[in-house]
Amino acid sequence: MRYNKVTPADIDRLKKICGAGRVYTGGKIHEDYSHDELHGLKQYPEVLVEALSTEEVAAVMKYAHEKNIPVTPRGQGTGLVGGAVCTRGGIMLSLAKMNRILELDEANMTLTVEPGVLLMEIIDYVTPRGLLYPPDPGEKSATIGGNISTNAGGMRAVKYGTTRDYVLALEVVLADGTVLEIGSKVVKTSSGYSLRDLIVGSEGTLCVVTKATVKLVPLPERVVSLLIPFPDLQKAIRTVPKLISAKQVPTAVEFLEREVILAAEDFLGKKFPDKSADAYLLISFDGHSKEYVDSMYRQVADLCLEEGADDVLISATPERHEAIWSARGAFLEGIKASTTELDECDVVVPRDRVADFLLFIQKLKEKYGIRMPCFGHAGDGNVHVYALRDDLSDGKWNSVLEAVFGEMYAESRRLGGEVSGEHGIGIAKRSYLLQDLCDGEKTLMRGIKEVFDPKHILNPGKVVP
Ligand SMILES: Cc1cc2nc3c(=O)[nH]c(=O)nc-3n(C[C@H](O)[C@H](O)[C@H](O)COP(=O)(O)OP(=O)(O)OC[C@H]3O[C@@H](n4cnc5c(N)ncnc54)[C@H](O)[C@@H]3O)c2cc1C
Repeated sequence: MRYNKVTPADIDRLKKICGAGRVYTGGKIHEDYSHDELHGLKQYPEVLVEALSTEEVAAVMKYAHEKNIPVTPRGQGTGLVGGAVCTRGGIMLSLAKMNRILELDEANMTLTVEPGVLLMEIIDYVTPRGLLYPPDPGEKSATIGGNISTNAGGMRAVKYGTTRDYVLALEVVLADGTVLEIGSKVVKTSSGYSLRDLIVGSEGTLCVVTKATVKLVPLPERVVSLLIPFPDLQKAIRTVPKLISAKQVPTAVEFLEREVILAAEDFLGKKFPDKSADAYLLISFDGHSKEYVDSMYRQVADLCLEEGADDVLISATPERHEAIWSARGAFLEGIKASTTELDECDVVVPRDRVADFLLFIQKLKEKYGIRMPCFGHAGDGNVHVYALRDDLSDGKWNSVLEAVFGEMYAESRRLGGEVSGEHGIGIAKRSYLLQDLCDGEKTLMRGIKEVFDPKHILNPGKVVP
């Protein structure tokens, strides 16, 4: 696709739409807007526009459509796949300042928000009201618009599912500036194709999300976490499918290795409750009665001990719970701080193949001689593997990375897995998605893009194969 460059006349028009104070060019664009959290990809937008209303978003899109200028929607830029980077130049459309909580509807258990509301703001708003927004991605400073656009996952997916399961209605602006209301507050629907589900996870390539209504649930009264040391990672991971087939319903099942715990301790400057073992399962349970939660965690604790766990450490107070889970939330930052550069893989495999996938990673580490710490959501099969550069030269790093990633994605495919469990495709994982999809799927995806955005001005070069 050929696009037009942004001209001084375009800048004037954007200033008329949004006001001069929210349109930035050249040196006025902060460095943060040249990248997201993907390493090694940097590209400034030609112009950064901060929208305050749906009307402004619609007017910007209508103008960009007429002028054939690419537009990249942007939340907080915490994405890990280059999705919010203007790789084809054009307009970066920031939704971060559309950040009002619009309505709490307790009768329907819904919350309606603008796209720039942060996940942490939703948590702070609903928790004191005895409500829970269940999706729980690690980065709480991400926007809800970003979470919806990447179908963010997180720790509680085992029991509660991911962002898509909580989105009821969306207001969106199409590529030509048309505003649509999609979905409603109803609990169930069988009313034609679900455009809402298609838009969730579309990474800003189909439309711009300008309002969302999400589903809430009652806040569980009791939450208990178990930190379970195992002599090795294989023993820990092979316990998880047994726990699931024993019909237990944990809220989260994470696996941790000592190497990652040490990196998080260094990063946070705080001690983890235990680091005597090579590997751990971190399992949490929630519910509305003490009897229900306690009987479930006791059965799981017994099962883990039968399967070879060294011990079971119980944290039933909010403080201990918080200490463990805040350390878990810092794993990625801890790993980052321990090396010069990294690249990550976020594959998801069937739950009973996680152990096989991790054995394969062990072999890769040995074959290529690099550090590859992992952690992840053992309960839902989503594994985060990090290839660390340390002191490798440019040439060596690039060749090792290509080989390691090629092998990892091929193995995940062989095990029945998919490219991304929660971080999305963006630009970084596009070539791997391409290898995974059959011709029919590619044709459908390209056709969908064409219907929503015939000029391909929305986030060009991302996702669509
Ligand atoms: C330390 C760390 C931990 C993380 N942990 C998790 C985790 O546990 N689970 C998880 O799923 N992710 C995780 N992430 C990734 C990231 O936080 C998510 O992808 C998040 O959803 C991105 O939100 P954002 O507001 O930063 O969006 P951005 O990075 O700004 O954008 C992400 C994508 O969404 C599009 N987009 C943003 N807003 C809109 C909108 N309003 N309309 C249309 N398109 C839009 C962008 O174009 C881009 O393609 C983590 C990231 C970090 C840095």
